[in-house]
Amino acid sequence: MQGSLELLRSNLERVQRRIGDACAQSGRDRSAVLLVAVTKYAQLPWVQALTQCDVWDLGESRPQQLVARSAELQGPIRWHMIGQLQRNKVRPVLERATLIHSVDSLRLLERISRIAGERAQQQHVLLEVNVSGESNKTGFAASELEAQWKQVQAYDNVVIEGLMTMAPRVDDPQQARPYFAQLRQLRDRIVESHAVSNGLPQLSMGMSGDFEAAILEGATMVRIGSLLYEGLESS
Ligand SMILES: *Cc1c(COP(=O)(O)O)cnc(C)c1O
Repeated sequence: MQGSLELLRSNLERVQRRIGDACAQSGRDRSAVLLVAVTKYAQLPWVQALTQCDVWDLGESRPQQLVARSAELQGPIRWHMIGQLQRNKVRPVLERATLIHSVDSLRLLERISRIAGERAQQQHVLLEVNVSGESNKTGFAASELEAQWKQVQAYDNVVIEGLMTMAPRVDDPQQARPYFAQLRQLRDRIVESHAVSNGLPQLSMGMSGDFEAAILEGATMVRIGSLLYEGLESS
């Protein structure tokens, strides 16, 4: 266990350094980019080790695991729901998640707003955009989101903080940059044409394989899993 804590710490330091370098390269302040540590394939002790390293923004892609782990872990954790959310799983997630990154339809947004209203709460969300248009991906089509913005804005109990996307798998991370750029440009167009008052400040984009490219295109949140657990062995 001690060994795995050290390994995790050094993986984390390497990731933090690479985030810092990408920020410097793009002339951005390090504080402009939040690391969300994705824990979906991490064992519980590894997640505990992350919190010992002062990482409190944790991302889960499955609602059940988010719920289970929020009961098992202590401390000021901010849970990020990053995976597909079925409408019947909204309630338990709302009770625990600081931010839902993966709102991929108006129906889901409507349901989140309704349940948040019942709980007298405002839920912070990002809208997931399928920038590449791949058929195996969920999310709003970019053109659809722009056209539907009036409806998107109609829900009272959600605060839309920005947009999220996943780039296609590519061999060279540089090839992912255009997708990240398109998400930023879509955000800029929506803010401009609909005078969105908060400016949709958050762009959640970039994973282990492409986070530097995402930071160069304006990511404010990177969702990183596998790089953090390199060399750790499942028990
Ligand atoms: C798993 C996952 C990640 C992290 O992926 P890694 O390649 O392991 O860094 C990021 N975002 C989403 C939505 C995921 O499901």
